[in-house]
Amino acid sequence: MSGHHDDAPIAAQVRGLEALLEDRGLVDARELDRALEAFLAGSSPAGAARAVARAWTDDDFRRRLLDDANAALPEVRLSMGGGLQEQRLKVVENTAAVHNVIVCTLCSCYPIAVLGPSPTWYKSEAYRSRVVRDPRGVLAEFEFDPGPDVEITVWDASAESRYMVLPRRPEGTEPLDEAELAALVTRNGLIGVAAV
Ligand code: FE
Repeated sequence: MSGHHDDAPIAAQVRGLEALLEDRGLVDARELDRALEAFLAGSSPAGAARAVARAWTDDDFRRRLLDDANAALPEVRLSMGGGLQEQRLKVVENTAAVHNVIVCTLCSCYPIAVLGPSPTWYKSEAYRSRVVRDPRGVLAEFEFDPGPDVEITVWDASAESRYMVLPRRPEGTEPLDEAELAALVTRNGLIGVAAV
């Protein structure tokens, strides 16, 4: 069940697959439940926020995360596998000059393993078609303006590749520890429709 549409109607697909495999006597339903529960328990924006906070406070980890996210994620107890097919994650870093936004123009591919389920608007036709053509207009609807001199790069997910934004560390957060920094990171910041 690989492919482009594997995370939108994931529950229905999993149920269908489960029934098929059980019919054929291939797996125990409880085994599947355990694998799925483990996957979902580990997937929420809190996981990705932990990776961001670590990247903000540990420059070597930041470089590893940007170079090869799949290899670096286990350092913050994350994985793109989670019992299901592993997808490649590319972390794209916001800078003073470039702001990144993620989308799946074809359907709704999203790094569920590290961000949890995607928001409804992410799957909408309006977001998917407009963010590529008019990223500034879409960001304005989220009441976010990256600034006129900032270049906006839109990353389109595919069956093999998922993206996640590494937001810029907000100014004035020097006294905060890693857990406090992680609490500042929002799901929208990781998608790129908010600053952080
Ligand atoms: Fe997709």
